[in-house]
Amino acid sequence: MEKYELQKLRDLPIEGVAERLGLSVRMHKALCPFHDDHHASLSFSVRRNSFRCFVCGAHGGPIDLAMRYLNKPFLDAVRWLADEHNVIIDEWQPRSTSFNVHRSTFNVQRSTFNVHRYTRYFEHPFLNDEARHFLFDERRLDPRVVRWCRLTSWRDKQDVPWLQIPYYDREGKLVGIQNRNLGFTPIPSPKGDGSLPLKGEVGGGAPRFRFPQGSECGIYNLPVLNMLRAGEPLYITEGCSDCWAMLSAGHKAIAIPSATLLKRKNAEQLSTFHFQHSTPFIMYPDRDEPGERLFMQLKELLPNLEHRQLPPDCKDFSDYYLKNKTG
Ligand SMILES: [Zn+2]
Repeated sequence: MEKYELQKLRDLPIEGVAERLGLSVRMHKALCPFHDDHHASLSFSVRRNSFRCFVCGAHGGPIDLAMRYLNKPFLDAVRWLADEHNVIIDEWQPRSTSFNVHRSTFNVQRSTFNVHRYTRYFEHPFLNDEARHFLFDERRLDPRVVRWCRLTSWRDKQDVPWLQIPYYDREGKLVGIQNRNLGFTPIPSPKGDGSLPLKGEVGGGAPRFRFPQGSECGIYNLPVLNMLRAGEPLYITEGCSDCWAMLSAGHKAIAIPSATLLKRKNAEQLSTFHFQHSTPFIMYPDRDEPGERLFMQLKELLPNLEHRQLPPDCKDFSDYYLKNKTG
């Protein structure tokens, strides 16, 4: 067997291999087949693509798991894995993908956000140098806020660093992801009038933001609602950056980047929340025309939204936060 083929087998998703072997995997755990187990002692690390039992000590990668479980020597286990390769890959890949390929009538599936696939990204957040620089040097954010928001980072094949921002619903279920390009350098507007740059150049012109298929990024940081005390104000910001600044300043905050992305059910959810908990909704709109427009649009959906004015020399709340921080 070729070396690269062996590597392909080592890279088979460990939980996919376990399920193919007949183990029932839940929440990255299963009953250990190597000792008399009643408590799902076998743990899977998706990141390391390995398994470990903390009772009997069994551990290893996909090939080890197949060898031990099938009680076969290395070559036989490898052959079994190679035979099962396509099945494991097919079974383990997002179901929605195979729907798209085989049944075009199921196009609706295309917009389904693959929670299962993405949740694990945020289990062990990792911040690369670019992310740390952006969050802590440039934005001066409180590390506790960064942990609470489970921000993580990665690097794509073109070596572009991305900050990965998870969106959760109120129950803490992942509903969407926003990827922010940390290597983005805006191209100055040719007009030279300081108007917003629309394009950036980095790593072959990757965009500033990217959203995985089906991401629902209507409201950011919804789980914070569960931490609000009765009567405590909820601050509404325009985007994640302002939300992190608001949180770092010690306020409870969510972000609603766009009134058009705010679904009716979310607006109703917020209005109900306001009614039940007498929560004041407060917004510091960006000091520009789009900022005021967003405020007016949100005010229609959330009639109780209060307007606060930023000082004249601050364009948005992040700016205000940084000015206060640096004194
Ligand atoms: Zn065990």
